[in-house]
Amino acid sequence: MAKKKRRRRLKKKWRYRFTLLGIILLIWLILGPIKGHFLHKQESKEATSVTTSNKKKTSSPRKLVKKTFVKATDQEVNLYQDADLNSDVLELVPPGEIFNYQSVKDDFYLVTSNKGNTGYISQDKASKFTKKMYQSIHSLKNAIIVLDPGHGGQDVGASSINEQYYEKDMTMAMAKVVKKTLEKAGAKVYLTHTSSNKYIYLDDITQFSMDKNADVFLSLHFDAADIDNQYSGIKTYYYYNKYQDLAESINHAFDNLPLDNLGIYYGNFEVIRETTQPSLLLELGYMNNEKDLAYITSKDYRQKVADDIVKGLKNYFKNN
Ligand SMILES: [Zn+2]
Repeated sequence: MAKKKRRRRLKKKWRYRFTLLGIILLIWLILGPIKGHFLHKQESKEATSVTTSNKKKTSSPRKLVKKTFVKATDQEVNLYQDADLNSDVLELVPPGEIFNYQSVKDDFYLVTSNKGNTGYISQDKASKFTKKMYQSIHSLKNAIIVLDPGHGGQDVGASSINEQYYEKDMTMAMAKVVKKTLEKAGAKVYLTHTSSNKYIYLDDITQFSMDKNADVFLSLHFDAADIDNQYSGIKTYYYYNKYQDLAESINHAFDNLPLDNLGIYYGNFEVIRETTQPSLLLELGYMNNEKDLAYITSKDYRQKVADDIVKGLKNYFKNN
């Protein structure tokens, strides 16, 4: 009898335990998905806010600053000591040189030339213009790079010894590889033209670079010597002294190329002179040198140059 009673009590105990377990299970089943839903909602909200903030970061427009420039428009432009045509001439400024505008006095603009002379230039031989410029960027990512494949159309540029290859086609092939490589590094890249059959006026090249607000403009070329196989190697040209550091950055990266690095030079070329954007002209080998041409026509060399330009620009923007 006592045994039976005990067994019944046990049974009751177990029933009680099962009911309790059932209730807990029921609560878990009801609350589980709700809780999960809330959690998920919160998570997705977080994810959305992350994407929006990322989006905000990448698409936030860069600050534009208005800058005023003065451009020498005549062939021979005198830079005078004073705002007076009878005062001493400090320098004969190359046509198309662009200065930062400083002030105006009578019929003259006060400017500092690329050579570092501060003086007056007659308004008759200069034009003042204002342009919105981006503030400097400190990474290659999102930087605007304009590449100019030198020559095009009727202007074939330099030729190989046997005239089998033209510079205009080699610069186009090079520019396309450089563009792709720069884009992989996150830069925004524009070519001044995309077919070597097209000729572009030099004025339009600089205008394109200024319209795009290039952080860096690179005009790509291959050289030619008077005598076949006379010279070999690569040269980096700048016009404005303030872009010497840019030239050094790029040129330094070229040290690992199979052709001799002949260094950086001042070059009075229109595409790097008549512009407000940081600009260089690169001569990446001699078309009429057998050894250079073997590299110029190779995919491997193009990629090496492209990788070096990325390396050089990264270094330049980091210190910019
Ligand atoms: Zn050229």
